Amino acid sequence: MRIPRILHIDADSFFASCETVLNPRLQGQPVYVGGGRNGDGIVIASNYEAKKYGLKIGMACFEARRLCPHGILCRPHYSEYRRLSLEMFRLLRRFTPMLVPISIDEGFMDMDQMDRVFRCRNLSELAHQIKKRVHDEIGLPITMGIGCSKLCAKLVTDCSKPDGLREIPPNGEAEFLAPHAVEKLSGIGRRRQRALKAFGIETFADVFHTPRRQLEKRLGWIGTQLWLLAHGLYREKLTHENDVRTCISNNTTLARDESDYDKALLFLHTQTEKILLTLFRENLKAWEMSVAVRFNDFSEESVQLKFTTPQFELSPINRAVERLFTRCVHGQSLPVRQVRIAFWNLTPLNLEPDLFGNPPELKRHDLDRARRKIEENFGQDAIISGTRLLLEQQGKSLRHDKVKCPFVPAREMAEKLGKLE
Ligand SMILES: [Mg+2]
Repeated sequence: MRIPRILHIDADSFFASCETVLNPRLQGQPVYVGGGRNGDGIVIASNYEAKKYGLKIGMACFEARRLCPHGILCRPHYSEYRRLSLEMFRLLRRFTPMLVPISIDEGFMDMDQMDRVFRCRNLSELAHQIKKRVHDEIGLPITMGIGCSKLCAKLVTDCSKPDGLREIPPNGEAEFLAPHAVEKLSGIGRRRQRALKAFGIETFADVFHTPRRQLEKRLGWIGTQLWLLAHGLYREKLTHENDVRTCISNNTTLARDESDYDKALLFLHTQTEKILLTLFRENLKAWEMSVAVRFNDFSEESVQLKFTTPQFELSPINRAVERLFTRCVHGQSLPVRQVRIAFWNLTPLNLEPDLFGNPPELKRHDLDRARRKIEENFGQDAIISGTRLLLEQQGKSLRHDKVKCPFVPAREMAEKLGKLE
């Protein structure tokens, strides 16, 4: 069996690096990006120059200013970050048929045999080329780690930051891992950390010296995984994970507290539209839904309902949304801070024609296909719904640009990657 060669890439201080790409005069200066509604709430990213002054993610921007008075605070440009992320993944996609983005700036690549395909002496040489191209063509610094599994490759990256590149050969994984704390491994949460500590295990060297059976008994499958990793035997093939979706939700803080409930409802309708499109494209409809409203004193009202037949069409769902929203704000006078909508109890769409002709789902599919074609040719904003148009006109202040990975990492992957060609 071939030994997997998995490359993990992670852009360094992604948002801050993007700001430097957008404004090259920031090069070499301490830069940090502020989050929150006005872009000056908390630090959501800082480059390494700023980190030297003690700036950390989650710190208040005024604190960051005190620590690093000459640091440059940038307001976030989320749509630009998404654009640069997409450019980066497009470039990476040229080097492997199997690329799995896991967040806006992070992903795994299956590099098995790719050094031969690209006529490089070895994988490290090819990785260096990729890194250089991302830097030269997009302007982003990235760190890369190569190993036999996603877990190991990611740990290699974490240990090589910033701007590093390291390959651990299959027979060197045990030696590489030995001095590292087990808690550095992704997926090891607090509870497991405590269990491991109680067991006297802190590093992979400790795992190495613990009998496999004992680990399995205490930790189940994770115990086996850790034991295999510590012995350099853990292998993992890269696949597009396809978890079955059980619910879908959207939770958005409005750009400002809204005391006009009609506008808040309009905003909720636009969020519903987005979420329904995703649900529909995953061939699902929902039996149950809920709407929650959080007010500016952080009190919350939520209502849920069960449909008599599963729903996927916008109009009946929008009517339900309106009803639930009205119940949430009934008797309230406080401005709305946040709205949430969720669908669960999902069931597949009926996409087979039957005795009575095409079901409504199938008809909607044709419509959606046409919509996609228009979007492909004229851009994402080519089609604007009535509710969104109203929001643009009446509630400009509620327009929201949330940061999201340009891909849905575990879902729709094959299709999205297809479009990258
Ligand atoms: Mg990163």
